[in-house]
Amino acid sequence: MNQHARALPRQQDGANRASIRRTNLGLILRHLRTAGPRSRTELAEDLGLPKATISSLANELIDRGLIREGAVQREGAIGRPRQAVELDGRRLCGLGVEISVDYARMIGTDLRGATILDVTITIHPAAGTEAMLDAVAGMLDEALLRLEESGIEVVGITVATPGEIDRDAGVVLFAANLGWSNLMVVAGLTERIAADIPPIALGNDAKLGAIAEYAVVEAQGIHDLVYLTGEVGIGAGIIVNGRLMQGAAGFAGEVGHIPLDPAQELCACGRRGCWETMTGLETLMRLAADPDDPVRNPNRDLVDRLAEIRDRADDGDARSLAALDRIAQGLGLGIGVLVDILNPQTVILGGYFAFLGEHLLATTRRVVDERVMAPRAGGCELRASTLGFASAARGAAQAAMEGVFQDPGSVEPAEPDS
Ligand SMILES: [Zn+2]
Repeated sequence: MNQHARALPRQQDGANRASIRRTNLGLILRHLRTAGPRSRTELAEDLGLPKATISSLANELIDRGLIREGAVQREGAIGRPRQAVELDGRRLCGLGVEISVDYARMIGTDLRGATILDVTITIHPAAGTEAMLDAVAGMLDEALLRLEESGIEVVGITVATPGEIDRDAGVVLFAANLGWSNLMVVAGLTERIAADIPPIALGNDAKLGAIAEYAVVEAQGIHDLVYLTGEVGIGAGIIVNGRLMQGAAGFAGEVGHIPLDPAQELCACGRRGCWETMTGLETLMRLAADPDDPVRNPNRDLVDRLAEIRDRADDGDARSLAALDRIAQGLGLGIGVLVDILNPQTVILGGYFAFLGEHLLATTRRVVDERVMAPRAGGCELRASTLGFASAARGAAQAAMEGVFQDPGSVEPAEPDS
């Protein structure tokens, strides 16, 4: 790197040094995020940087309130004590909001990724998009005020929605199950929020969910995965070699509309036979219960309704078991297609699939094994998400914090403790 820097013309040299310093500040933050508390000596060894450089960078990160002195570590019983540094979670927050068909969930995470705020509100789809934006803006307003009172700075807000998204414009181009086309989500929220607001970004729920899931499994050596949302619609977030697949125009992963359903049911997108007509949440509800059954009352909490279906299945109720079997069969068929195309190490089932995982996984696994060309499904493992319905909002909160890891120097130095 230094040799390269020397070869640059003189006027670029300073800018290049600043860019290297920015990169190294970010490198330390990311390393502390995955490795946990480390002494300066360990950081120098881990990252291959001189100890004096590490000390200077660590001091800057401490000044900016991003890391702090942690516990004193000792190497062995008689080793020299070493002061560790660790991420400081007290100062900053990234806010993520998932907007789904009938709820919105907001999660705030600190620099370490710990949850500091988790709020869910019910949305009545019939009330329309203006009422939905009002409700989400109200929830954000309250959180921004509360966090400011606690001395916590919100560095960014990311909103996750299903569908095709123009991220630069902050517009949802089309979201079939929400009935949205060309909805200006970012502008709509910005004009409604009274509090001082950090930048709002927009992202696809499945892609943001995959970011959260990847953070969970990365340390297990999993770098190729498919995350499937399990809500009214089905979307995929695809991680290939540690990177989120966006596609040429950012629309990769709209797997819910792959034509797989032999019954050719009508889909919310206007076409027939889409995968989500076989496997979406509404289909489960329809298969499992009659219209007047309390589990189909949309005003009730979704998790309570799903718990009731799970209890019935646990008790051997034939209709519930048959419904879950149908869902699992359809799920396996589509996952088989994805596994043939992408050969992931793991497919992570999110949302309601995760909630009912005990009743779905065995059958889904069997169908995948039967369908996929590669022996043993190319080594692909199926697992239920450990984050459940929180994936998209968590991933959105992580994405909102990402700017700090990319450029820690953008964070103003902390006020000295009074
Ligand atoms: Zn469709």
